[in-house]
Amino acid sequence: MSEMFNFSKRISSLKPSPTLALNAKANQLKAEGIKVFNFAVGEPDFPTHKEIVKKAVEALEAGDTRYGPSGGGLPLRKAIVSKLARENSLEYKPDEIVCGMGAKEILFHLFLSLLNEGDEVILTAPCWVSYMDHVKAAGAVPVVVPVPESGPMVNPETIEKYVTSKTKAFVLCSPNNPSGYALDRNELLKLGSYLKAKNWWVISDEIYEYLSFDHPHESIIKLVPELKEKSIHISGMAKGYAMTGWRVGYAAGPKKIIDLVRNLQSQSSTCIPPFIEKAAAWALDQGHDLMQKEIDSLAKRRDIAMELLAKIENVKAIKPQGAFYLFVDVRKALQKSKTLDTSLKFSEHLLNEYQVACVPGEAFEAPGFLRFSYATSVSDLTEGLSRLDQAIRSLS
Ligand code: PMP
Ligand code: GLU
Repeated sequence: MSEMFNFSKRISSLKPSPTLALNAKANQLKAEGIKVFNFAVGEPDFPTHKEIVKKAVEALEAGDTRYGPSGGGLPLRKAIVSKLARENSLEYKPDEIVCGMGAKEILFHLFLSLLNEGDEVILTAPCWVSYMDHVKAAGAVPVVVPVPESGPMVNPETIEKYVTSKTKAFVLCSPNNPSGYALDRNELLKLGSYLKAKNWWVISDEIYEYLSFDHPHESIIKLVPELKEKSIHISGMAKGYAMTGWRVGYAAGPKKIIDLVRNLQSQSSTCIPPFIEKAAAWALDQGHDLMQKEIDSLAKRRDIAMELLAKIENVKAIKPQGAFYLFVDVRKALQKSKTLDTSLKFSEHLLNEYQVACVPGEAFEAPGFLRFSYATSVSDLTEGLSRLDQAIRSLS
């Protein structure tokens, strides 16, 4: 098709976001009246805090309905600067901050700004669905370090095997989507001292920073300050503040790269709606405490989900220390089946036969795993994992 119309080869090679596609499929079944246990998409199930909504409504009523500045207005960037200093011990100036329509747009524009044709970007599997396609859209090459034998984790020894003279950047996502691992201080220091010896750009995606349950989140850029001159900290409002639909993400980094990202937004989505900026700045000023109750409830559900999972034979998951996903290793269970022998086929079977929607590991460069978001009700979680148990038992 694309050959007939001579479409862009680069863009035609991209796939739609699998997590969003699966969510759409689950919602379509729901609209047809079918009860679906939807663990597919990664978004908190609680509403945005009432006060944040109120701030946006007030701004709308006050007439904040026009274009805003590309890359975010000064009040929002100042709120981010204060938040980074207060919560992350990271020092940036407002002109080292750029805001965009979600961390996804920021990352997309960042890869476009950073990469040239043929540059390589190291990603460690399992990795979030969009990095691969963002890198490809920029004409560069994603190089994926496979999941280590011992399970999902990032370690310098395995990364080193994938380094070439074309390696330009490294992406770290901790707390991690999809596996939920969160590097502790020692692991970050070890990784940081490895990265320090390289001349790469480090993209540190910390969008799940509020959701670190077992130890306080720390940024690798704070722990290893030598990285700062070639690092970009990424975060946003979607996960920690339950504001997925508001589309607010940001990056902090050296001014030269931040300027390029801002220029690109001025040529694409223009700006974040200004009434949303007001609400986001207010939320950032409140900080982590505003969401503590919800964060605690996610940690409880993590524990419930792990207990339920422990009862299912032939599957295992590392205990997620952060984010809100269970990343379940089903490789042993799938060995029992002649037909449902991949996580992709098994996830389709789960949806069609058991009405359970989850994301197959193939979407995260980690075949043999399934991702379940546990940001759902405990009753859905209990029933959904019981259905997973039934489906696993019936494999033969
Ligand atoms: N990074 C990671 C690791 C994510 O899981 C997501 C998913 N939302 C994003 C970035 C993008 O977030 P946003 O909704 O702010 O675009
Ligand atoms: N990041 C979320 C997820 O992994 C939202 C979906 C998406 O942005 O693709 O499910």
